Amino acid sequence: MNIIIFGPQGSGKGTQAELIARNHGLAYISTGDIFRYHIKNKTDLGQEIEKYVTVGQLVPDELTNEIVKDRIRQPDCVVGFVLDGYPRNKLQLELLNTIAEINQVIVIKLSDEEAIKRLSGRLACKCGLSYHLIFNPPKKEGICNHCGEKLFRRDDDNPQAVEKRLAIYHQETEPLFDFFKQKRILHEVDGHLAIEAVYQQIETVLGLNSKNETGLHQNS
Ligand SMILES: [Zn+2]
Repeated sequence: MNIIIFGPQGSGKGTQAELIARNHGLAYISTGDIFRYHIKNKTDLGQEIEKYVTVGQLVPDELTNEIVKDRIRQPDCVVGFVLDGYPRNKLQLELLNTIAEINQVIVIKLSDEEAIKRLSGRLACKCGLSYHLIFNPPKKEGICNHCGEKLFRRDDDNPQAVEKRLAIYHQETEPLFDFFKQKRILHEVDGHLAIEAVYQQIETVLGLNSKNETGLHQNS
């Protein structure tokens, strides 16, 4: 089964995609993770990607398409995969349609107001840990629990940057939903709830947690 997870930044789609993949033995494909891997390992691709990421720009479609195409051809994707962060726009969807068939699509709905609240409260530490002013505050204000260093807000988490990313999501990603709606494989879940509750909704709409339902299909 091949699944796409859509949702604005702050909707927790990465966490949900990983949970689905882990619990159902599917490959987890996050374009963000692949970008970070190449940057960290200083590959040719990584150096190319870094040019865009460091100035806060989106990685161009041709480059992203190439990376996803290569990833989907890996052996672990044969059983199925969960896509996170792709496709982001019409061009990417067109490429995806030529290399894989998508069976289910989940959209995690979240208001802009809530997304901004969640993202602008994020704090990071040099050691790699992250915190949140409301949901996961450090024990001592502004200081990392683990290493004692001063916490900071990432540039791309400031309200203006968050609003810009949300606008791109509304303009370029949301129009893709119609394509999947027409194929009757699009499911919406409420992203305002807690992680576990959102996950339960996803399992239910995918029909993955219902043994009875499977039995019914076999009998009919
Ligand atoms: Zn730290």
